[in-house]
Amino acid sequence: MPTAPRSTLSRRQLLTAGAAAFATVAARGRLAHAGKAKAPPPGPSPSSLAGTLEQMKLPYPESALAPGISANVVSFHYGKHHKTYVDKTNDLVKGTPNAGKTLDELIRATAGKPDQQGLFNAVAQVWNHDLYWRSMKPKGGGTPSGELGKKIAADFGSFDAMVKELSTAATGQFGSGWAWLALDPADGKLKVMKTGNADNPLAAGKRALLTIDVWEHAYYLDYQNRRADYVKAFFDSLANWDFAAENLARKA
Ligand code: FE
Repeated sequence: MPTAPRSTLSRRQLLTAGAAAFATVAARGRLAHAGKAKAPPPGPSPSSLAGTLEQMKLPYPESALAPGISANVVSFHYGKHHKTYVDKTNDLVKGTPNAGKTLDELIRATAGKPDQQGLFNAVAQVWNHDLYWRSMKPKGGGTPSGELGKKIAADFGSFDAMVKELSTAATGQFGSGWAWLALDPADGKLKVMKTGNADNPLAAGKRALLTIDVWEHAYYLDYQNRRADYVKAFFDSLANWDFAAENLARKA
């Protein structure tokens, strides 16, 4: 999900797209213009049009991740925390040249710039959560096969070694943040990353394949301080390796 598509997605296209197609492109979507049935014409957006980012739809019911993650946690996490970042992004880009840019473009444009920290935090947290919800599925877990399975074995030695490294990153991230399986285009290898707060692999020029949200809001109501148990549940019953495989297979 993490690279910018070159085409503009209209609201109607998003609404009518199948769930799978939407899941693939939503986080890369351009900020749609409210009330517009058709994509805006190429070129700079008229300043009178407010950019309106629509929160991605959950690809499953809120209760579908239980018992790994309860419906209560998903409801608060998606409906309050994630939505707040979407609303904040819309507030910050409204009436500015940033309205109409993709999330990827905004992240790249604001990463590492102290005067853009507020916008980066909001936009990156939308992007990160878009990836997170699709990094899980009901009755997930298991082991990936195909090209992803081969690549994990080649780059980490084994699937279990990768899970151990990613689990260590997730449990060891100090404070709020994220753990990632990412592709490093510099050497073509898969890497485990951990990032603080809103930071993500895209800001570092890497391609995210899968993520685990380790902010306390992602697990505290279910697991209290037992972050390791939440991470274990992620790999045991939630991880969506099909989604990671799609991210590996797509052209940059
Ligand atoms: Fe979160």
